[in-house]
Amino acid sequence: MFMSHLYRNQKAVSALYNKNMFHFSKVLPNFINGEFVQSKATQFFEVRNPATQELITKVPQTTEAEFNEAVAVAAEQYKSWSQTPLLERQRYMFAYQDKIRKNMDKIAALITAENGKTLADAKGDVIRGLEVVEHACGISHIIQGETIENVARGVDTYSYRVPLGVCAGIAPFNFPAMIPLWMFPYAITCGNTFILKPSERVPNTSQYLMELLNEINLPKGVVNVVHGGFDTVKQICEDKTIRAISFVGGNKAGDYIYESGAKHHKRVQVNMGAKNHGVFLPDCDKEDAINALVSAAFGAAGQRCMALTTAVMVGETKNWVPEIVEKVKELKLGNGAESGVDVAPLCYADLKKNVLRLLDSAVAEGATLPLDGRSFVHPKYPQGNFVGPTVIDNVKPHMTCYQEEIFGPALCVVHVDTLEEAIELINKNQYGNGTAIFTKSGSAARYFQNNIECGQIGINLPIPVPLPMFSFTGSKRSFGGDLNFYGKNGVKFFTQFKTITARWKKDQDAGYKVSTSFPVMK
Ligand code: NAD
Repeated sequence: MFMSHLYRNQKAVSALYNKNMFHFSKVLPNFINGEFVQSKATQFFEVRNPATQELITKVPQTTEAEFNEAVAVAAEQYKSWSQTPLLERQRYMFAYQDKIRKNMDKIAALITAENGKTLADAKGDVIRGLEVVEHACGISHIIQGETIENVARGVDTYSYRVPLGVCAGIAPFNFPAMIPLWMFPYAITCGNTFILKPSERVPNTSQYLMELLNEINLPKGVVNVVHGGFDTVKQICEDKTIRAISFVGGNKAGDYIYESGAKHHKRVQVNMGAKNHGVFLPDCDKEDAINALVSAAFGAAGQRCMALTTAVMVGETKNWVPEIVEKVKELKLGNGAESGVDVAPLCYADLKKNVLRLLDSAVAEGATLPLDGRSFVHPKYPQGNFVGPTVIDNVKPHMTCYQEEIFGPALCVVHVDTLEEAIELINKNQYGNGTAIFTKSGSAARYFQNNIECGQIGINLPIPVPLPMFSFTGSKRSFGGDLNFYGKNGVKFFTQFKTITARWKKDQDAGYKVSTSFPVMK
């Protein structure tokens, strides 16, 4: 009902953006038991197009009764879904990856409409999520258990990985497709049922992903979507049925979810904020490194948890700042739906205010702005949440713009004399999501790799987000929990061990005698 006739007659991806082709629900329904159902909400969040401020849809704050109904449906469906053979569950993922692939342009256009990012970037958002769905098609070797025969005489021990029950996901705004797809495909292929709370800023993409689940005839109630803000998060954390929570977002929300989820006896994984440093050694391939820096700092207008937001210029590379600035100046700002755009508007107006606050603080605290985008107004989209690309030079670690995540099109530049100083700077930073080094020296790269306290390291590449045969291994204050997202860890997160110790005695074997001492294997 929501978007099934949405994209008729489309010719090109950018044509999908034409507002006449989007028939968004005025008020977004929840997705419960395979049906799109309107909420009886009295409170709503507005979703506006980031370039035009056009009201796209209103998102309900799901009521307590509706939330409870979604959980009850998921718990009921768990009984049969958890008993569905793994190969059958994987087959749904095979069908799903095909659906996503075929509808990639539509999903990308939808992402651009509500998140604002460029269509090319939105396509990347879908592809990185799709890779996780593809990986979920083949988890059988990861989900296998362990066995020891004859662990004692006549006794065997074997462990199965079994699902947890009803699991939940809470998603951020910056990857409307990829991050929900980090969550429910693994959870359900492992045999769990799922409650998803998309970001209230970009809920339409998740809604469409649910339409595609219906199109592959996934049993009703295996995945459910409840919309809302903090109240829904609180309900998820405190619910007695939900067994695990996957969260991606900022540290304030992540800390709350980690603490409250754990307090309410749930398994929790939280991927949180970041400050990613790129270290530039004088011997690196200069042009390649500057291109990588500019792409990774300003792509998605800096709204990526793996954006390379801080350049650490070592030694004589301090002289490269004017060239970096010239390269940044070439970036074209515009509506993400239009071709040739490099930097789109920020997703929502309050984020723009926060970015401007941090840029102002940089000036007030003594940094310099060789490129200042604070007053940029797009002539065609004067209402858009644009901030012009900004380079903040001479940043010092105590400055607010360094301490806080900017999440906008701004690059901090710090100068140091040696690689050791660069490593010390990065290791002192609270975050550990990602970092990168640019050098032609294998030994310098190896020294960096061995001494840096960051979970994901790029060597001569800027955004080292691992593919799902690995896991997303942010660390320090960028991650809370034990088991990371996707890959082997993703499967482990959504399963638990059940261990059986069995003794089958032969008729002639002696039985146990009564013994009150602790059993010891013989
Ligand atoms: P956010 O924390 O504002 O929102 C994320 C989710 O939490 C939303 O669903 C929202 O409804 C909910 N929420 C918001 N405030 C809350 C609160 N106080 N208590 C409980 N729940 C709350 O994050 P965002 O602005 O949507 O996303 C940007 C942040 O996410 C950045 O910090 C970015 O670095 C981080 N992020 C991290 C990763 C990663 O893998 N490490 C990936 C993407 C984004």
